Amino acid sequence: MISVQSYNNLYNYQSNKATAFGQNPYTPQYQDNNRDNTGKLLASAGLLQVLSSGLNKASEWLGHKLVTGKEFTSAENVQKVVHDMCKNNKLDIEVGLIDRNNLHSAINRYGQEFANDLAVVADGQNAFYHDGKKFAVAPKSKPALLPHELGHAVNAKNGFLRALQKSRRYAVFAPAAAVLLSNSIPSSNDGKKNFIERNAGILGFCAFLPTIIEEGIASLRGIKQSAKTLGKSVKLGALKRNYALAWATYLLSGIGLGIGTKYAIVEDKLRNGR
Ligand SMILES: [Zn+2]
Repeated sequence: MISVQSYNNLYNYQSNKATAFGQNPYTPQYQDNNRDNTGKLLASAGLLQVLSSGLNKASEWLGHKLVTGKEFTSAENVQKVVHDMCKNNKLDIEVGLIDRNNLHSAINRYGQEFANDLAVVADGQNAFYHDGKKFAVAPKSKPALLPHELGHAVNAKNGFLRALQKSRRYAVFAPAAAVLLSNSIPSSNDGKKNFIERNAGILGFCAFLPTIIEEGIASLRGIKQSAKTLGKSVKLGALKRNYALAWATYLLSGIGLGIGTKYAIVEDKLRNGR
């Protein structure tokens, strides 16, 4: 499983159900404390937890849809798309399709440090592109994920999109950063909330927005090349549907980060009796 905190260099398709929220550090984990809490803060915390668990359910559902989604065309046709995409964009990327039979050789090829990530791919639960090592892998059962991953490789050649791509590793710090910033603003005497407190949710979401945008562009590139290479002979409906589902999991992750950031602010207030 590849969760947000280990995203660093992996640009996932995020097709495994536990990815979006399960192990994320910003998932609300409210523990009762004995302080003299205000009912309002507790109610907020409770509501945020309910929202977060709803998002978890939605994300699981999307993950299930993705894993069981049909391929839009044959593996041979996808290979043609991959070939053209590499050629047209001058990509020097090693591309691999993995299952349990070739997992061992894939680990030898790409490196022991990817053993766990590659096992998830072999089980059909994920696909990813590694920018540093210049390879993209997808499950043998889901070759249609490759054009999306190569979309990330194309994005990496553009300075601006590359910056969006790299921002992912910092998004996870949004809740802690919001608490830190909020506490650094002197509180007003009239008890009004400061800017960070008022906008924590949207600020958290915005931290993930570059990722959401970059993921969408990667998919559009994959769809565009598929249309170009395969022409009218192949219907792209299933491809577009699967890519949209995957994109939706990122959207939910962004909302989750917004909720998590809001929660971090509320939790900090509860803990410190502010
Ligand atoms: Zn992706």
